[in-house]
Amino acid sequence: MNADLHCHSVVSDGCLEPATLVRRAHINGISLFSLTDHDELGGTAEAAREAAALGVRFVPGVEISVTYRDVAVHVVGLGVDPENPALQAGLERVRAGREERARRMADALARVGLGGALAGARRFARNPSMIGRAHFARHLVASGVMPDVRTVFNHYLSHGKPGFVPLRWADLEEAVDWIRGAGGIAVMAHPARYCQRLSTAAFDLLFDVFMAAGGEAVEVVAGAHSPEEAGRFATVARRRGLLASVGSDFHEEGESPVDVGRCNPLPPDLEPVWSRLV
Ligand code: AMP
Ligand code: MN
Ligand code: MN
Ligand code: MN
Repeated sequence: MNADLHCHSVVSDGCLEPATLVRRAHINGISLFSLTDHDELGGTAEAAREAAALGVRFVPGVEISVTYRDVAVHVVGLGVDPENPALQAGLERVRAGREERARRMADALARVGLGGALAGARRFARNPSMIGRAHFARHLVASGVMPDVRTVFNHYLSHGKPGFVPLRWADLEEAVDWIRGAGGIAVMAHPARYCQRLSTAAFDLLFDVFMAAGGEAVEVVAGAHSPEEAGRFATVARRRGLLASVGSDFHEEGESPVDVGRCNPLPPDLEPVWSRLV
């Protein structure tokens, strides 16, 4: 099974239209696909239509922004009903903080000499309610301030850098509730990304809380994971009895380390999350 269960379109902070993304995944040999825009389900219908036309199996998905102990954690929901009212209301509430954060980010960037960033970022945000750090990063690259998006994050947008403005996202438990209430499976996204900011104990507790809330899967193979990290989270999946997921987290060619549909396979002994999505 060549599955890619995590990627982004212009509906959040990706750069391709949902249908274009599905076509790219299809060309890359995908057989099971999920679009998981941040805090948004607006691309689902278009992606589902294109997947049906191409004979690609499609799973409606979303990546919910969560705050766990002051650290931003992402929870992917797979197989959710995109029409579920509680999920939609929850996502709308999560999105609502972005506009004010964007203004504060622009003010913070102006204080370090980077004026005009809000107007610049808006030009990259096709969905105005989803303006985020990637749009600011692309603006700063396009305006010649920094050579690439990664460098912008390292210098300005990552936690503790001058353009970083914290935002209180959803609680972990409520995000899992919304996903399960909409008939979906909650997946801990790219866990290796949280290790640096959480102690070993807090990191273990993150999984305890996630599973107590009803979380059932972990991304083992992820665009942000090295092969060693994939091995580490394969072990976590085995020890905890979690289903295993795979996702490129593709946003844009040249920006994302792994292309959509081009993930490494899961270790064969793990139970893949799609065994529960059919
Ligand atoms: P936001 O939800 O606005 O806080 O932005 C989070 C998004 O920023 C992630 O989903 C990635 O698309 C992007 N991002 C976060 N950290 C990095 C990084 N170090 N390099 C490149 N993109 C990043
Ligand atoms: Mn993103
Ligand atoms: Mn993420
Ligand atoms: Mn993502």
